[in-house]
Amino acid sequence: MRHRSRRLMFGSLIASLALLSGLALVDSQRHARIVEDIAHAGDQVSAYQDAAYLSAREMSLLRASAANPRSAERRQVLGADTEAYQATLRIAELNPEATTVVQRQIHLRQVIIGYLSMLDHGKITEARESLETAIAPTYRRNAAKLLELRNRYQQEYDQRVADARHDSRRLLLAAVFTFVLSLIVIALFVWNSRAHRRQVETMATTDMLTGLPNRIAFTEHLHRALAVAPPDRTAPGVTVLTVNINGFRHVNDQLGPHVGDRLLAEAGRRLSTVVRDTDMVARTGGDEFAIMLRDLDPARAEDVAARLREAFDEPFQLDDVTVDLEISIGAATAADGDDVSTLLGNADSALHDAKEQHDGYRRFTGHSAQDSTDRLTLLGDLRRALTDASQFTLHYQPKIGLGGAGGLVGVEALARWHHPARGPVPPGQFVPVLESTSLIHPFTERVLTIALQQAREWLDAGHRIPVAVNLSTRSLLDESFTDRLAALLASTGVPGELLCIEITEHTVMSDPSTTIEALNRVRALGVKTSIDDFGTGYSSMTYLKLLPVDELKIDRSFVADMVTDPSSRALVASSVDLAHNLGLTVVAEGVEDAATAEALAALSCDTAQGYHFARPQSAADLTAGLPQRQPA
Ligand code: C2E
Ligand code: CA
Ligand code: CA
Repeated sequence: MRHRSRRLMFGSLIASLALLSGLALVDSQRHARIVEDIAHAGDQVSAYQDAAYLSAREMSLLRASAANPRSAERRQVLGADTEAYQATLRIAELNPEATTVVQRQIHLRQVIIGYLSMLDHGKITEARESLETAIAPTYRRNAAKLLELRNRYQQEYDQRVADARHDSRRLLLAAVFTFVLSLIVIALFVWNSRAHRRQVETMATTDMLTGLPNRIAFTEHLHRALAVAPPDRTAPGVTVLTVNINGFRHVNDQLGPHVGDRLLAEAGRRLSTVVRDTDMVARTGGDEFAIMLRDLDPARAEDVAARLREAFDEPFQLDDVTVDLEISIGAATAADGDDVSTLLGNADSALHDAKEQHDGYRRFTGHSAQDSTDRLTLLGDLRRALTDASQFTLHYQPKIGLGGAGGLVGVEALARWHHPARGPVPPGQFVPVLESTSLIHPFTERVLTIALQQAREWLDAGHRIPVAVNLSTRSLLDESFTDRLAALLASTGVPGELLCIEITEHTVMSDPSTTIEALNRVRALGVKTSIDDFGTGYSSMTYLKLLPVDELKIDRSFVADMVTDPSSRALVASSVDLAHNLGLTVVAEGVEDAATAEALAALSCDTAQGYHFARPQSAADLTAGLPQRQPA
């Protein structure tokens, strides 16, 4: 609106300027004509004056010749007459009204010639009479007419000069006015382009969605803050918090970018209410925010982080959708010589740890700087590994039935990466890195393909061995996942019930309702589902009842301690009961000794998995041992 009215004002100013210039042009042309007219009128006036003078001169020569026929004047009469005649011809050219004067002059010439001949023949009296009766009256009439015309043109001339003066004054005024107006237009133009530049600058440094500063502005301010940070180490300096909204991508995918945008705007607003005016909150990309805390005791960053997380306790209400969101925060305080990218990188690395450990807040503690460089190198290596068919393989760990016939009831496929230079890299080191990028999708596809091809091979060899595959949250929530899974099942011809998808309890609890939907889609393909690492994710009973799962795997941390630690044993016991009440099969992971296996059997746990029975092994090794393990 402001923009439009400014444009309107500009337009009208320029239009009036153009109008004024047009008028000035017309005026100056008119002025040129006036000047021409003045010159013309001036010519006329002087022509009459000349004619009047020459004819008066002729008359005086005539009179002198009458007084003395032999005088010098007598000899000049004819020449003077010619000059007077030519002068009258000139005025007749300028003004047709003067033709009578010319005619009289011509007539006068005849009479004068007669007069001169009388003089020359000594007829002085006759000559004088002719002078008085014929020449002098004609001369007077001509003189009177010339005077009259001259006066008229003099008047016209005076009028024109007066007009011209008046016009000049108006032209001057118009010029001054145009000049002032031009100055105004130029001033407005300068002001406008400055305002425009300021607007562009603001746009370049502001995140339009949240109205917060963007990454560019943030790094710039951080750079300045670091430059003025106190040299003395005891004083508080700059702390950076990087904030990420857990599961935001999923909300965005499920509810649409429109809802996602509103969520981000509201999230930005909530974050801003927590910090002080001297601090800075910025949106640095996607669902990432960064906060710069100045002059803050580094230890107090934790309080700020807690308050930031509290700000997300309240659900987000958007039209008819209520969304619960949590944030993860990484913090890093500037050390001597830290630059912007180091500090941000440190905070990001702490954030990464916070997310990986399912911990809402982590502070950068120094040694993980190496980790983050490692992480980058690792990412590059992983990207290459995914194009190389040989680097990723699967090991299979048997799942052993504890009751009844016992024996092999299935296997869990565990990814193995053989790094060309570093050798084997454990999945705990590279899977989280993959999960932080979209590389997790091709990786999951690779794992599922290998696992299903292996299940197919076993089927062809006469072994029905269910294979469990670990699935990361991102893969499960990927919209195209179920379709790809269906295609893989179809292409390998493996029945859905021979595949089990393991997802961790954390995955389920980070967004139960969406996970339930995704699990239902997987189950519709006949595929089994399992909750991994059970006991670490604070499941709520309400959700457990609703979860479309077939199996519950008790986390190995409880299983490992159950013989020595009564509380672990109690947790295992209650998990077994709970699972059975919900009609699920229970698997205990990490069974490392016979005592644990016995204790589990005593608690009626269905299945066990662990080094006590078998380590994860290659498909070939496992196949080699099959005839002995295969239930009859
Ligand atoms: P997990 O799903 O809990 O897998 C079981 C882990 O426990 C495996 O470690 C296995 O080698 C180990 N384990 C088995 N028996 C014992 C035992 O008796 N004692 C002890 N201490 N450990 C035992 P691994 O192979 O290093 O895998 C670690 C984690 O990496 C897995 O934990 C899983 O979360 C993840 N992972 C492995 N493969 C994949 C995969 O293909 N995709 C995804 N998304 N994650 C995977
Ligand atoms: Ca697992
Ligand atoms: Ca597990």
